[in-house]
Amino acid sequence: MIQSADHQLVLEPERKTRSWMPDRVQFTPAALEEPWGQQILQRVQALNLPIEELSGNRLTGLRGENERDTYNIAKRTFAVVTAPPSSFKLSPIPPSADWQFHLAQGCPAHCQYCYLAGSLQGPPAIRAFANLPQILENLGAYEQAGSATSFEVSCYTDPLGIEHLTGSLAECIRYFGTRQDGYLRWVSKFDAVEGLLDLPHNGHTRCRVSVNATPVAGKFEGGTAPVASRLRALRQLALPPSRRGGGYPVGLVIAPIMLIDDWEMHYSRLFDLISEALDFDCDLTFELISHRFTPGSKDVLLSWYPQTKLDLDEATRSVKRNKFGGTKYVYNSDTMKALRSFFEREIARRFPQAHILYWT
Ligand code: SF4
Repeated sequence: MIQSADHQLVLEPERKTRSWMPDRVQFTPAALEEPWGQQILQRVQALNLPIEELSGNRLTGLRGENERDTYNIAKRTFAVVTAPPSSFKLSPIPPSADWQFHLAQGCPAHCQYCYLAGSLQGPPAIRAFANLPQILENLGAYEQAGSATSFEVSCYTDPLGIEHLTGSLAECIRYFGTRQDGYLRWVSKFDAVEGLLDLPHNGHTRCRVSVNATPVAGKFEGGTAPVASRLRALRQLALPPSRRGGGYPVGLVIAPIMLIDDWEMHYSRLFDLISEALDFDCDLTFELISHRFTPGSKDVLLSWYPQTKLDLDEATRSVKRNKFGGTKYVYNSDTMKALRSFFEREIARRFPQAHILYWT
């Protein structure tokens, strides 16, 4: 049983999630020249992590004898680098936000359906950007005066999963707290939110956690915080400061929604947990993403997780093509309709004040 100041949650016994600690930390010379890089260096030194100062600005020593080895080496490596000039030209990211920007690339978790598979080049090391102040300063040009402009910062990383090493998510929240029209969005499968609760966010950051039904989270989401802990963290972020919370707008990203056996029962249980965690009025959104994969992501995922039980069978899926000729495998339209109407009905019934931002 979990105690909180004003409420008793029955989510599940509390289990402290250990923060991710890399086996090694690499700094490029360019990263060490940046004051934000020095700030990260101090954090890493305070944690007594083994540090390598590279002689050039290219990361080295990330490749193993095969893809699986490379994965194991890279996923234990935290590298501090400078974001390249190309990252100062932002891309739109519909339907999640107007624009995406990045404080890091790569993620310490091991989700067998990972969205990053096939999107990032090279070994999947976790690269944090030492030139964050410049990255933030660049965003102003993309804000549309007089109209709310949203920025997503979790497309290529889980920013909370590395926050103890970087402090970069807190810095982004502080920055957006000073903006007139800019709004930040981030999402995580981790739970260490204490350091975010007292930040001057000014209502300009929406914090979301990504959750799933127990059979999906338990089987496919290695290295993440348990779903109940993520929900506890979200509760903490959403509670008003008068109840020792962060007073943030919050959201749930339910993804990837999978057609598992007894899916209605398992996803109903997930909604029970969400209802337990958010049993008070708050500014709440839902984003609903059904499972999909591409030929490229399937190849990468199978090289990373050769034993996976993830359903990657094209024969049972419909093909969706995008305007650039890319192919995605999604559930067929009858399955999509059944899943979608279940989720929309449950949300309307349980959280009538919440907004569903999109189903995809
Ligand atoms: S938390 Fe997200 S980015 Fe990280 S491994 Fe899982 S799916 Fe990939």
